[in-house]
Amino acid sequence: PWLALAALPVVTLLQRSLRHVQLLNDARADSKTGLLNAATWEREATVEVTRAVRTGTPLAIAVLDIDRFKVINDTYGHLVGDQVLKELARSLESVLRDYDRAGRFGGEEFSLLLPQTRAVDAFRIAERVRASIADLSIIVPGATGGERVHITVSIGVAALDSGSKREYSELMAAADAALYRAKSGGRDQVQMISTTRGL
Ligand code: GH3
Ligand code: MG
Ligand code: MG
Repeated sequence: PWLALAALPVVTLLQRSLRHVQLLNDARADSKTGLLNAATWEREATVEVTRAVRTGTPLAIAVLDIDRFKVINDTYGHLVGDQVLKELARSLESVLRDYDRAGRFGGEEFSLLLPQTRAVDAFRIAERVRASIADLSIIVPGATGGERVHITVSIGVAALDSGSKREYSELMAAADAALYRAKSGGRDQVQMISTTRGL
């Protein structure tokens, strides 16, 4: 019993610091998907871009937008729309590597930070993300029991090749331009702009 008494303050302290970590994580997370929220993702991406430029290492950023998401909402309702957002987020986390970071940038837009990643690899990863989302079969409550919903996404990638000097905002603008190209090119595809091909 003496030992238990002595251990009590340590346990309490541990519990408190765990709770603190949890609170910090909550403030960093998007409540709907559990991914990083926009402000946190942006802050971390800015730091990583600066670091990549300073150390001359490659890095890539991708923006992902669900295709015709409005149709999903209009057909099945917003709750199903939310379920789709959650399942997409889970799929992102399973495809990405430990050191990649996924954020929810806006309503149905997501952002990916791929540190230490060359343009060819960034394209390959984005393509893997696109394919894994296209393969999802999301079971939702429908008029006649369970229905399967399928979605596709368009992805724009901006790759900072090693040795390039660019700012976060320039990379985001390039990723946005690439996303626009993916949308106008027919959706369900990845487009990329890299610094060697001229951002
Ligand atoms: P596009 O292929 O051009 O991207 O078409 P889209 O329909 O996906 O694009 P649009 O911008 O017209 O519509 C986006 C929709 O995303 C409209 C909005 O209601 C929906 N949306 C945004 N945030 C949420 C959310 O948190 N939950 C749900 N269910 N829907 C959302
Ligand atoms: Mg959008
Ligand atoms: Mg969309």
